[in-house]
Amino acid sequence: MRILDMHCDTIMELMDREDISLRKNGGMLDLEKMRQGDYLLQCFAMFVPYLSRKEGENYSPFRYCHRMIDRYYREIEKNADLIRPVTTVREIRENMLSGRMSALLTVEEGGVCLGSLELLRNFYRLGVRMMTLTWNFKNELAYPNIDYTPKSSEEEQQTARNSRVPETEHGLTETGKEFVREMNRLGMIIDCSHLGDAGFYDVIRLSDKPVVCSHSCARALCGHVRNMTDDMLDRLKENGGVVGINYCPDFVTDEQRPVTVSDLADHIEYIRSRIGVEHIGFGSDFDGISNERLELKDASFMPRVIEELERRGFSDREIDMIGYENALRVFEKNFGC
Ligand SMILES: [Zn+2]
Repeated sequence: MRILDMHCDTIMELMDREDISLRKNGGMLDLEKMRQGDYLLQCFAMFVPYLSRKEGENYSPFRYCHRMIDRYYREIEKNADLIRPVTTVREIRENMLSGRMSALLTVEEGGVCLGSLELLRNFYRLGVRMMTLTWNFKNELAYPNIDYTPKSSEEEQQTARNSRVPETEHGLTETGKEFVREMNRLGMIIDCSHLGDAGFYDVIRLSDKPVVCSHSCARALCGHVRNMTDDMLDRLKENGGVVGINYCPDFVTDEQRPVTVSDLADHIEYIRSRIGVEHIGFGSDFDGISNERLELKDASFMPRVIEELERRGFSDREIDMIGYENALRVFEKNFGC
């Protein structure tokens, strides 16, 4: 059990589809594929759109998040022979010993809390242990690097969506800063993926716990603004945090071509040379991305990444650090045990 993946969108794929299950489905990640891929733990993101035209007028991100959490627990409960939900590192180790995989509940959109610390605390009580402050909408807490908020013209809208200019001006709001302090106190990991560059620096200044960028790559190798600049990587190192390599072809290369495990290993090698192996993990983004241009079609392909790292001379110890130990270190520092 060597793989800890900090981000997937599989629960989103199951929403409004009672005919498919977490155990086995036609998507990029299910429990059978995780077994084949030698998984220890999967972080299941509740990906909640902050604004949604599709869901109609009475749409509420808070309510939608609860619907997703209900589906998450129903799926996990049905498959207790293979996987158990965890909120502590002790439980992860217990599952490991009994040969079961672990599931960690995470949220991708801090706006589900509607700016309320009370709701944040209640999400923690429901088992949420990691949360991005934003997705691609500005919200009560912060500004993202890509902003999908409706604009007055179609042209403006497209420009914002395709932005290659990071948000360096607007960081965290006052409420966002309170959230960082409260997430630190509770032991909920702050996930800086999607957050604007200015917001990332605000979090790094304020957080007294290690943070993650659960599904982002290196901007030096691919210019997408969802990736981390060298300076951001340096700050992440000082913070003790971890970046989870995202397999999305658009985040791996600027070229329109198929992406191989070797391309992913390039990002791993680059980040290792910049800030050290202690700060690298995995954040597949499975079921949130297309695998059309991807050699790594689904979770069962993960041993190919391990083989590629071995081929490049990474030691067993280094592979285990990248595979799961680095992320577990951040979990432990945040959860307390
Ligand atoms: Zn994402």
